[in-house]
Amino acid sequence: MTEVLEGVYQLLTPFPQYTIEEAQKLRKELEEKPRVTKGLPYVMPYLIKRGGETVLIDCGWNTDDAYKALEDGMREYGSHPSEITKLVITHVHPDHYGMAGKLKQLSSCEVVIHERDAEVIKDRYLAPKQLTAGMEKFMEMHGVPEMSAPSMSQGSMGMLDKVAAVPPDRSVRGGEVVKAGDFEFELIWTPGHSPGHLCIYEPNRKILFTGDHILPTITPNVSIHAQTHGSPLGDYMRSLDVVENLDADYVLPAHEFDVKVLKQRITEIHDHHKARLDEMLRCVDKGGSTAWDVAGRVQWATGKLEDFEPWMQRAAVGETLAHLEYMFELGQLAKVMRGEHQYWIPA
Ligand SMILES: [Zn+2]
Ligand SMILES: [Zn+2]
Repeated sequence: MTEVLEGVYQLLTPFPQYTIEEAQKLRKELEEKPRVTKGLPYVMPYLIKRGGETVLIDCGWNTDDAYKALEDGMREYGSHPSEITKLVITHVHPDHYGMAGKLKQLSSCEVVIHERDAEVIKDRYLAPKQLTAGMEKFMEMHGVPEMSAPSMSQGSMGMLDKVAAVPPDRSVRGGEVVKAGDFEFELIWTPGHSPGHLCIYEPNRKILFTGDHILPTITPNVSIHAQTHGSPLGDYMRSLDVVENLDADYVLPAHEFDVKVLKQRITEIHDHHKARLDEMLRCVDKGGSTAWDVAGRVQWATGKLEDFEPWMQRAAVGETLAHLEYMFELGQLAKVMRGEHQYWIPA
């Protein structure tokens, strides 16, 4: 737990597979020497205490350990989860939003979520069966062999018991301001990692909360799945432009550790995707390839596609599709249906 500046505090809640102590230890170690961990160890909510308001940006998974870590962290700054007045969610992924329902019950806080993310709460958390069926068909269409499609599509359903979903009290579009005393937090719509992702900017103190949009060493997963509309990677690249020129002394992400220089980090992320796009384009056959074909040819930091767990294969296909769709948007690829399968062809 760290004081960023007076009234703004960085908290930490562990992921389910880590204890509080392990997560806190990793927070220190990673900043000194960044490395790939076995899944993310923690998420960093931010507490803002100002002018009688107690604002929390993101929370954590709905587990006892994560709640305890939040409670302990808030207590350190003379506060308690029951005193939260506003809960601003950067996006509804379970590590950021999981505890929202519990906190709402405890504090009757105003829950603020972007409308595009609010839209997926029902499908994702309240009636996920249909989503699972849709995902199976979707994976088959993109060339995933039938053998692995059913188990793949159930991938992340095991996390449902760690999410207490709640609808927003205030559904936003970006451009709104959340006030806390003399702090004015501007909500900036940055779609890509999720359709309704929000970054939050305080222009007077030059603070930027980046959620999962910009992390110091990890490039956030940008993926296409059965619920996706349009081109998330195109959105993501445009969302990098949206925050690139903000004047920020504090760039505070939800994972890893603080970002040192915003502009430089954005350049690195651009370079990463440029290289990834080039690589994927080389993996598309002249006669056409499915997303599964391409995913099986590109390099993955974690090994070979065929050795991945089913949920990892699903993530890899989704990430591949985001790149292919972006190249379609740029006019570099065409797409065509052959029978039940979608093929990508160099344009
Ligand atoms: Zn996320
Ligand atoms: Zn996250």
